[in-house]
Amino acid sequence: MTDNDAAPGRILLVGIGPGEPAHMTARAREAIVEAEVVIGYDTYLKLIPEQLEGKTVIGKAMTEELDRVAAAWEYARAGQVVALISSGDAGVYGMAGPTYELLLQHDWAPDRRDVAVEVVPGVTALSSCAALVGAPLTHDLCTVSLSDLLTPWPAIARRLEAAGRGDFVVALYNAASKRRREHIRRAQEILLRYRAGETPVALVRAAYRQRQRIEHLRLDTLHEAEASMLTTVIVGNSATFREAGLMVTPRGYTSKYTEGVPVAGERRGRSLSLGLGEWPAALRAWLREQDQPSLAAATRHFDVPWDAALAAVADAVAEPDTPYRSSPIDPAELTRHLQECRAWPRVQGVVHGAGGTRMVGSAAGADLRWEGDALVLGAGGARVEVDWARVAGAWALAGACQHCSLELVDAHGDALLSLERLAGAEGS
Ligand code: SAH
Repeated sequence: MTDNDAAPGRILLVGIGPGEPAHMTARAREAIVEAEVVIGYDTYLKLIPEQLEGKTVIGKAMTEELDRVAAAWEYARAGQVVALISSGDAGVYGMAGPTYELLLQHDWAPDRRDVAVEVVPGVTALSSCAALVGAPLTHDLCTVSLSDLLTPWPAIARRLEAAGRGDFVVALYNAASKRRREHIRRAQEILLRYRAGETPVALVRAAYRQRQRIEHLRLDTLHEAEASMLTTVIVGNSATFREAGLMVTPRGYTSKYTEGVPVAGERRGRSLSLGLGEWPAALRAWLREQDQPSLAAATRHFDVPWDAALAAVADAVAEPDTPYRSSPIDPAELTRHLQECRAWPRVQGVVHGAGGTRMVGSAAGADLRWEGDALVLGAGGARVEVDWARVAGAWALAGACQHCSLELVDAHGDALLSLERLAGAEGS
C-alpha cells in the first residue's frame, strides 16, 4: 500500500480542549483543517462541526479506541492526513498513548518517512475545570482516574493513598458513570484518612459546554454530590481554602513574606529556612531546644523518614550541644558491625512495624544471629526478627544518655530495626 514517492501520511493526535471553540488551540484548529480524515467520538465531533465539511468523518461507527487507532494507521499508511480527536489534551487519558503503542508494535519509528505523527496539545480538564472554580491547583497536584475499566481498583486505591499522604491537590478524572457510582465514595474514604472533612472540593461537570455545572462541597460531603461521565472532581490539599465562592490553594507566599517583607529567618530569592540545604540544621536546632530530645519525635515534627533524620544529625559534628550524632555505615561493613553488636553483653532490639507499632525485646549479644532470611535477636518465644532482604541501609547512632545504637532502614528510609547497647548491663 505504501508508495515512497507519495506524500507521507500523517496522524495528528488533536486535543480539542474542554469543548468551547475559544478554548481550542490555534494549532488544533489548523490540524483539523489539514486533515482529510477525522476520527473521534460523536460527542467530540459535534463540538467542531463547521470544520468537518468535505472530510471523511468516522464517528458513530467506531466506538472502540483501539479500532479507531487501527483505522488511523491504515489511512495514514495510504498517504492520508488523519486527525484523531481527543477531548482536553490527547496525552491525558487520551488517544496519544494507545496510538504510539500500536504504531510501535508495527515497528513504526519517528524517523519513518511514510507516516508522521504529531501530538497537538490541548487544554486538559484539570486546567479548564480549575479555571472555573478559582485557583485550586497552585501547588503540587496529581490526577487519578477512578475508571477501573483498564486499571485494577487496588492500584487506583494505592495511588489515592499516595496522593493523600503526599498532600497533593487531587484531580479525579472519570469520577463516575452510570455504572460506577461507588468509586467516588471510596476515593472520599481514602482521602479522608489524610485530610480534614472540611477540605474544599469542587465538582465541575461539562466545563465550557452547554450543560456546565459547578458544585462546591467539602470532602466529607463529597458522597452527596452528583457526578457523571463528564465530571472532574478537584480535592484541595491541607492548605486549600474557600472564600467568596472561590477555591484557592496558596502558593506559599504568606509563610515567607508579610506585607512584602520576608518574615524572620527567611531571605528574598533564597530557599526557605526549611529548604533542601537548610532543614537539617533546623532539625538539629529543634532537638537542642527540647527538654527531652527524641530523634523519633523530630521525624514526626518535621515529617521526614527515619533515615533523613539520621542524616541530619550526621552533620552535628561541629555542634557539641546537639544531643544526637550519627554516621552512615558502609554496606560492605555492616556484617562486621553486627558482629560487634554480638560482643555487647546485652542488646535491646526494637522492630518498627507499619503504622507506628513497635516490638521491643532484649537478649544477650550472642543471641543476635541470622536464621535463613532473617536477622534474629533472642531465643525461644521472645524474639525479634527482621527480613534481611529488606535492609537497605544502616547507621550508627549515638545520643543522649549514653544511647548507642545500630539503625537498620529499608529502601524507603523507614526504620526496620534498632539494635541498642543496653547501658550498665556489663557483666550482668
Ligand atoms: N483527554 C481528556 C480526558 C479524557 S478522560 C482531557 O485531557 O481532559 C474523560 C474525563 O475527563 C471525564 O470523565 C472527566 O473527568 C474529564 N473531562 C473531560 N472533559 C471535561 C469537561 N469539559 N468538563 C469536566 N470534565 C471533563
